[in-house]
Amino acid sequence: MTDTPRQPIAILGVPFDEKSSYLRGAAQAPAAIREAFHCPSSNYFSELGVDFQQHPDILHAGDIPLHGDTLAQFEQITNAIKARITAGQRVLALGGDHSITYPLVRAAAGHYANLTILHFDAHGDLYDRLDGDPLSHACPFARIMEAGLAQRLVQVGIRTLNAHQREQVTRFGVECIEMKDFQPRRLPDLSGEVYLSFDMDALDPAFAPGVSHYEPGGLTTREAIDLIHSLAAMPIHLIGADLVELNPVRDSHGMTAMTAAKLMKEIASVMYCR
Ligand code: MN
Ligand code: MN
Repeated sequence: MTDTPRQPIAILGVPFDEKSSYLRGAAQAPAAIREAFHCPSSNYFSELGVDFQQHPDILHAGDIPLHGDTLAQFEQITNAIKARITAGQRVLALGGDHSITYPLVRAAAGHYANLTILHFDAHGDLYDRLDGDPLSHACPFARIMEAGLAQRLVQVGIRTLNAHQREQVTRFGVECIEMKDFQPRRLPDLSGEVYLSFDMDALDPAFAPGVSHYEPGGLTTREAIDLIHSLAAMPIHLIGADLVELNPVRDSHGMTAMTAAKLMKEIASVMYCR
């Protein structure tokens, strides 16, 4: 897989938060991440040395235009990603609440048959339904796994499993690394085509206060970046990613937006080399 031809990376906003169960606000995240990305307090380089201002293979592609009801918007998301993939690009999507990962992965799975998903989150997001809603941001990985859109789901940072979600972990054969068992710099061996989904609340709220669901006991920013960087040494093709659940309404001085902008750069850098 290391000789996979390089494909441009499109960074694409998905301003959607209609499936948030607790607080709205994540629809404002793509604009907040872009503002933080351009903030002159930092520069445009990732830690891995990629220059995001100059790079010919990294496309700052704006937001997906969304209108209509939820199903229509999910269709628009899937179609936008399909078009990018057909054009030979890979997409790093900026959410949006986590419900968008279902239409995002639905598009990717149409092109990549044997996907592994690496999912960072405080929550398993495996509910069959939440408050009667199968498309809630608490449900995307149940929809993905029951539809066979991924062959393997590896979760990191989880610290909220209830009885139902533990059953879902077993039902779908999820490799769930709960935070209580987490060891720094240790991911399972991954290979083949990988999709990365990063929920900002995987980070401890001390590091990322700009999220809707405060769940203490999470990853440090450094631990998350180290895990993302560790993918660069694995025999994988990172075919797509999303960064979701930043809630600028809850942020403090734009700190979490800066963290999201940094994660965006580090994830895209790993995509660039994998
Ligand atoms: Mn989530
Ligand atoms: Mn979460």
